[in-house]
Formats: sequence, structure tokens, C-alpha cells
Amino acid sequence: MVNWLLSWWLRRLGGTPCFRIYGKARVESDWRIVNIYATPRRNADSRWPLWRGTCITWTSDVIVVGWDFAERLLHEQSEQPACRERPVEVAGGRLGDWQRRVAAGASSQCSASEVLAHECGHTRQPLYLYDLYLPLVGAVTLFREGPHWWNYFENQASEQGLFGGIVNGSVCAELMQRIKDH
Ligand SMILES: [Zn+2]
Repeated sequence: MVNWLLSWWLRRLGGTPCFRIYGKARVESDWRIVNIYATPRRNADSRWPLWRGTCITWTSDVIVVGWDFAERLLHEQSEQPACRERPVEVAGGRLGDWQRRVAAGASSQCSASEVLAHECGHTRQPLYLYDLYLPLVGAVTLFREGPHWWNYFENQASEQGLFGGIVNGSVCAELMQRIKDH
């Protein structure tokens, strides 16, 4: 299932990632390289209601985002680049809980880099859930973070995810062009 979806995406998107990043969960010792693909269906103005303005982690090495998110991320990273020595984490371990975020000394609004750190937290889940990952996490992901048992995988992604920066030279020509145009 996972591989089927992955190959479907790779075919659809022409096989070139938008960019690559270093990502891992806190419990992992080694950084992994994760491919980020961009699609207009995940833009904030997309007509696909469940996909609009959201990112998704399909497998341990594939995250799909909107083009607008990719632009925002690159913009943030050009101003304050993350690296494996200084990775981005989700402030207070929550993207959506402004009280926890402010208590951790961060902005109440999360950055695109923090959203990517959260997705990096998800990339470890298929490594231990195997084929259960998509049905299990996909089913509860729309509930986001929260205090209930069904928020477990979302909370874990925010608490565990680390984004260790964009891999040098991995940004695709199309994203470079979009940044120049805007
Ligand atoms: Zn999530």
C-alpha cells in the first residue's frame, strides 16, 4: 500500500523532489534524508477540501506540501537556516496550543519550519508501524493535537520531530524560479 502510493506520487510528480531535508525523531540517533514534494492541490487556495493548506507524510522519506508552503519554508530558511547541529523543533511540543507555545517562550503562531519539524516526527511512525501507519495515523490526523487518545500520533509528531535543514543543492529549479518571481 505504502509503496503503491509512493510510486503513484513519484510518477505523478515527475520524480523530482521540490527539495530534500534532514529529518528525524528525537529518539533516533541518525539523521535521515527526507524528500519533499510540492503539489498545487495542497496550496491554501486549493479546491481539494481535505488537502487544502495541509502537509502530509506518506512514508518515512516522502512528505508532500503545497507550493505556497514550500515557498514560505524556503523564505524562512534563507533568513534563519536550520542545520543538524541546530535543528528546528516544535516550540513547547505543540503546533496548535498557543498557551504551551507562549510558556516555552515562542510565538503563539507556528512557523513553516516548525510544521516541517512536526512532519519529520511523523516520518518515524511508518518505521515502527509499518503498513499500519497510513490507516492508523491517516485516520486520526485530521483531529490534530489534543488531550485524547486519538491525538496520540499528532502529539508524538510534535514532541519528537526535528528538522535539520535543507540538503545543500537539493532545491529544484521550479521552486527557485517561484521565489524569484514573488
Ligand atoms: Zn501531523
